[in-house]
Amino acid sequence: LSLAINPVDIGVRVEVPAEVMTHLTDVIYESKFVFYSQSFEDRVRTFCMCPYGEVVTENNDGLITVNGHSYGERRTGNTNFALLVSKTFTEPFKDPIQYGRYVAGLANLLSGGVIVQRLGDLQAGRRSTPERLKKSLVVPTLNEATPGDLSLVFPYRHLVALLDMLKALDVIAPGVNSRNTLIYGVEVKFYSSRFELNANLESHIDNLFAIGDGAGVTRGLMQASASGVIVGEEIKRREGVLQNGIIRKR
Ligand SMILES: Cc1cc2nc3c(=O)[nH]c(=O)nc-3n(C[C@H](O)[C@H](O)[C@H](O)COP(=O)(O)OP(=O)(O)OC[C@H]3O[C@@H](n4cnc5c(N)ncnc54)[C@H](O)[C@@H]3O)c2cc1C
Repeated sequence: LSLAINPVDIGVRVEVPAEVMTHLTDVIYESKFVFYSQSFEDRVRTFCMCPYGEVVTENNDGLITVNGHSYGERRTGNTNFALLVSKTFTEPFKDPIQYGRYVAGLANLLSGGVIVQRLGDLQAGRRSTPERLKKSLVVPTLNEATPGDLSLVFPYRHLVALLDMLKALDVIAPGVNSRNTLIYGVEVKFYSSRFELNANLESHIDNLFAIGDGAGVTRGLMQASASGVIVGEEIKRREGVLQNGIIRKR
């Protein structure tokens, strides 16, 4: 089976007062917004909405990254979500996972783990300090994050894409682009290599399909479910045209 180079998703965890998002999170728990940055046309998406949740750290084989979750039985006053910039590399580079580890590793190098920065400090070109963070109206739910400067971590195109996306989101959820918004980094999603598939998610071997995250086809619950439906429907369609064990192609 041949493999395609998958994009790597690198970004931040954004934390705002829960009220900023309630008109969205009360209606649909996991809203998905996709934005194409004007500067580089990179795709930026929201991921893993955590209403009234907590920002947490994650240990990926020694690499400390950021994530988020919500509890069913207790709430914080904040909502967090990820903003991820997808980047597909072209020849000759074939190791997007290593690239993601390298960028996240810079945050670890500078802070020993995860960096938190007030958006206002990032926009003003200065690091956050414990003193500046104390002035923030948003109280961080991840206490172990080190106040610092994420502009020392992200490549220019990623940083610009993230700032553009925050501006765009502010139209939908006023307050997201506030200087009090907290930005944690680095959040990175490592995905499996993707099989080369056609529109039916079929490999170049007839009737061998691939679905879900494990095959590198999807990157989330809804897409993984939808990929199963697509293949299920295609198999059903083919079963209707199966003659003497041979699939008649349409
Ligand atoms: C911490 C975390 C947070 C996430 N948050 C979100 C979120 O907020 N929103 C979102 O959309 N997505 C989220 N995701 C991603 C989401 O969970 C995946 O995209 C989705 O579960 C993929 O579905 P899947 O069916 O492809 O694979 P999976 O859900 O991983 O299912 C694969 C199944 O196969 C089983 N399996 C593996 N090997 C074998 C074997 N050899 N034999 C039999 N069974 C096997 C596994 O046990 C598993 O049950 C998150 C993922 C993680 C890890």
